[in-house]
Amino acid sequence: MKVQRNRRRGRSEHAAGSKPQIQVPDPVRELIRKLEDEGFETWTVGGGVRDALRGSPSDGREWDLATRATPRQVRRLFKRTVPLGVEYGTVGVFGSDRRLYEVTTFRHDVVTYGRKAKVAFADTLDEDLARRDFTVNAMAWHPRHGELRDLHGGRDDLDNRVLRAVGSPRERFREDYLRVLRGLRFAGALDMTIDPATWEGMVEAVPGLSVLSMERVREELEKVLSGPHPSRALELYHRSGALQQILPELGEGVSPEAMATVDHLDQDDWLLRVTALLLFGMRTGDATPGRVADLLSRLRFSNADAERIGAVVRGGLGPAEGIADDPVARRRWVARMTRAGACTVEDILRIWEAVAQAAPTRTHPAAVARLAADIQRDHAAGIPAKVGDLAVAGRDLVAQGWLPGPGIGAALRSLLEAVWEDPALNNRATLLERVAALKPARLEE
Ligand code: ATP
Ligand code: MG
Repeated sequence: MKVQRNRRRGRSEHAAGSKPQIQVPDPVRELIRKLEDEGFETWTVGGGVRDALRGSPSDGREWDLATRATPRQVRRLFKRTVPLGVEYGTVGVFGSDRRLYEVTTFRHDVVTYGRKAKVAFADTLDEDLARRDFTVNAMAWHPRHGELRDLHGGRDDLDNRVLRAVGSPRERFREDYLRVLRGLRFAGALDMTIDPATWEGMVEAVPGLSVLSMERVREELEKVLSGPHPSRALELYHRSGALQQILPELGEGVSPEAMATVDHLDQDDWLLRVTALLLFGMRTGDATPGRVADLLSRLRFSNADAERIGAVVRGGLGPAEGIADDPVARRRWVARMTRAGACTVEDILRIWEAVAQAAPTRTHPAAVARLAADIQRDHAAGIPAKVGDLAVAGRDLVAQGWLPGPGIGAALRSLLEAVWEDPALNNRATLLERVAALKPARLEE
């Protein structure tokens, strides 16, 4: 592909007077020095440069390097390397801070399939920048020379908060459909508007998302849902049709309130966020166990994660407010949800909290907090959530002359109901007494 200069480049707002200054950590500079001492031109590129120019917090920022050295030359030069994707030219190299940095040989796309490009090594940084997806991601910074290479107007776009494909949007998305999802994510995370031609190209490319492997789609979804305000990207997913394309089960049903709820859930728990998205997105009648299981296995969740998510999506949020003033109903509900999954009660309460934060006039945060406190108090007081937590067990009944069989289970369940009515009953002596009283009734059956 030819280097395409962005047509906006001519009227750059950044005259020579506003030369950017980007602080690059020493370990990164050392790697560059080492490569360049051997004659291999090397730059920092991509997200690190973008985020530094945005002035986002520098801790945890990733610095990726682009170099003229081939992977073989990189591996020869450094003692400890990790072959991260040698066929794509990427070698992991440890810095003096023991962090792993990605060092990638300049490259350009040769053939593209819409899923993944076949790349060849290129001679120049400019060719390498031209194959990158968005202008804001297509800048390179040379810390030793203090030079920003910005052939596609990325800095202006960053300042104006515009997401724009490098070159022809239609072509770029057709080369690799993942760029559609990446673009929606960046626009959401960086709070950018999408340039109209880029947006058109995205929408047109949405049907092509079906060629992507579910692993890559899931990875993108995870990145979106791990950001501070996923609703912005989710809204774009929705408007572009990408959401319906990758998760047809959601139909048209993800409301703005549902997306706002996702924002209020813990950023570090993307599983809970995906749970809420599916829960609110699938119409109640559609969340059959079979459909939920199919969806979760298509999204490549482990069995354990699928169980956790599925329990909430299948069961729904439940009458969390309706049970607030009825201890027995509350305990019965907790018991049912505990049977559905180990984290189900906690997950549902956290989703309710987020619902209340997103729409406090409809669901009172105080009511949800009270419910959570009541459940917590029951738990701390040892009020049983299942038969196995009672102060008596089946063998105690057998010792009293009960015949092993379903009658014992029924008797224990009735004890459980009695304990929910009056928690003081949950001690061995009292329960055995009650069992003795039940026994004749059972024998008469
Ligand atoms: P972040 O890591 O914060 O998600 P990033 O921009 O660093 O954002 P990476 O996936 O780490 O994204 O990729 C690093 C760089 O590689 C990007 O900035 C972009 O220049 C380029 N790149 C990554 N994926 C693609 C792609 N599918 N098509 C074109 N260029 C890409
Ligand atoms: Mg990155």
